[in-house]
Amino acid sequence: MELLLHTCCAPCLIYPLEVLRNVGFKVTGFFYNPNIHPLAEYLRRKEALAVLSSGIEFIYPEYSPQEFFRLVNLNEEAPERCSICWRERLKKTARSARSAGFKYFTTTLLVSPYQDQELLKKIGNEVAAEEGVEFYYADFRAGFRKAHDEAKAKGVYCQRYCGCIYSEIERSKKK
Ligand code: SF4
Repeated sequence: MELLLHTCCAPCLIYPLEVLRNVGFKVTGFFYNPNIHPLAEYLRRKEALAVLSSGIEFIYPEYSPQEFFRLVNLNEEAPERCSICWRERLKKTARSARSAGFKYFTTTLLVSPYQDQELLKKIGNEVAAEEGVEFYYADFRAGFRKAHDEAKAKGVYCQRYCGCIYSEIERSKKK
């Protein structure tokens, strides 16, 4: 069983990859994250994958932040922009899964306690139906803390904000 795994970052890859392999999937990673800004941050997260990818192959679509900005234009407040952001990333993953012959896809976003699990599940199922592939839903949150501790212990970069420029502004305001 081949599965395309939308991957948001290296620390969040650890636990879902372990679970999916245990289920019996042959996993290919898909690093499609036009939401990440600026470019230096995008490259830093991409480079961190090389340390924690455990030998799986990765597909890297072109970095296209203009896609993200075009989609969230006039919907820049959370949670609306997050819903748009998740849909764009999952839609592209589902479409790529179909065109590359993968029956299944899922996302490492499901490991994060900071993302809306139920909405991600709903969006995943919707884009799966639109593209004619299967969304493999699993609640990976149990492995979030341990995986991030492991990433830190290995010296892997762990980001301090979700990804978009708006989330960085929100973080700086909280500080
Ligand atoms: S906060 Fe995170 S999920 Fe929400 S729009 Fe920004 S990058 Fe996407």
